[in-house]
Amino acid sequence: MSNKDLETLREKLDDINLDLLHLINQRAGVVQEIGRVKEKQGVNRYDPVREREMLDLIEANNEGPLEPASLKHIFKEIFKVGLDLQEEDQKKALLVSRKRKAEDTVIDIKGELIGNGIPSFVFGPCSVESYEQVAAVAAAVKAKGLKLLRGGAYKPRTSPYDFQGLGLEGLKILKQVADEYDLAVISEIVNPNDIEMACEYIDVIQIGARNMQNFELLKAAGAVNKPVLLKRGLAATIDEFIHAAEYIMSRGNGNIILCERGIRTYERATRNTLDISAVPILKQETHLPVMVDVTHSTGRRDLLLPAAKAALAIGADGVMAEVHPDPSVALSDSAQQMDFNQFDTFYNEINKLNWVSL
Ligand code: PEP
Ligand code: MN
Repeated sequence: MSNKDLETLREKLDDINLDLLHLINQRAGVVQEIGRVKEKQGVNRYDPVREREMLDLIEANNEGPLEPASLKHIFKEIFKVGLDLQEEDQKKALLVSRKRKAEDTVIDIKGELIGNGIPSFVFGPCSVESYEQVAAVAAAVKAKGLKLLRGGAYKPRTSPYDFQGLGLEGLKILKQVADEYDLAVISEIVNPNDIEMACEYIDVIQIGARNMQNFELLKAAGAVNKPVLLKRGLAATIDEFIHAAEYIMSRGNGNIILCERGIRTYERATRNTLDISAVPILKQETHLPVMVDVTHSTGRRDLLLPAAKAALAIGADGVMAEVHPDPSVALSDSAQQMDFNQFDTFYNEINKLNWVSL
């Protein structure tokens, strides 16, 4: 064979490569279109029956010289890149995604703006225990010129023998205190059937870590016109966290605050491991405001301040921490709630930081 012949064959090969390139991309375009149709219909992207049919058709038409096994290998790869593309498209399509909406979502809670570049703070007891207890914390919060008060009425506890919360009675206390002190209250709801009722008493529905993938609860919270503070699950990936928020938003409620509250790792020095890098990742991936709960992530009073500083330095829109008039007799989380003196010190230290330069 002359050099000339080899040259011709190589040119032929280049042409075939370019044809294949064109065809593979054309195929990918069609796969993308199918993805969009399937999304509209709400059908699953991956269809094993269809994949089997395509492979059978290819094998039946194979005239060689390629072996069926080699062909199958090549085509399965081609199928896979098509599916990957669909997945990328679906991610871009998430309602909570920054790709879908570039601007930050700012949430207005009775005039307090969350996500507007100025840090917001949520303080309050772990559990609502009595009117007097909540009112005492409300007065301390109000004295600092703050607006947001937390307190659990329904407490998802590890042990059924631990204090389970005052329930509706607790919500009523929160409402009374919110009205008297002109504050906005945040409280966890655990039952989808309670969401509508809770809207009459509280300003923000909290969905707790243990319920981050309680999809019926997420759907119920998505169906009301009330901001939601969604906590990251104890062992949830960031992707699962984002999809939990998507459940709420897909039902029509886009007023969602994401809250990093630590995840379970092998580390025992803290109650959970505060995944501080989740904050900028969530800010990049979504347009939603992100808060950090320093109480449940660290579980240690001595770490509340450094963790809060880290949270704000890395771009969190706010910090949540627990405050109780007398933590040593608190009915839950007595080891990590701040008393009023500690609260003063904590808040003074936070205010010494210059957020503009961070
Ligand atoms: C809470 O904030 O009261 C609480 C129980 O937190 P988490 O769901 O993050 O454990
Ligand atoms: Mn607590």
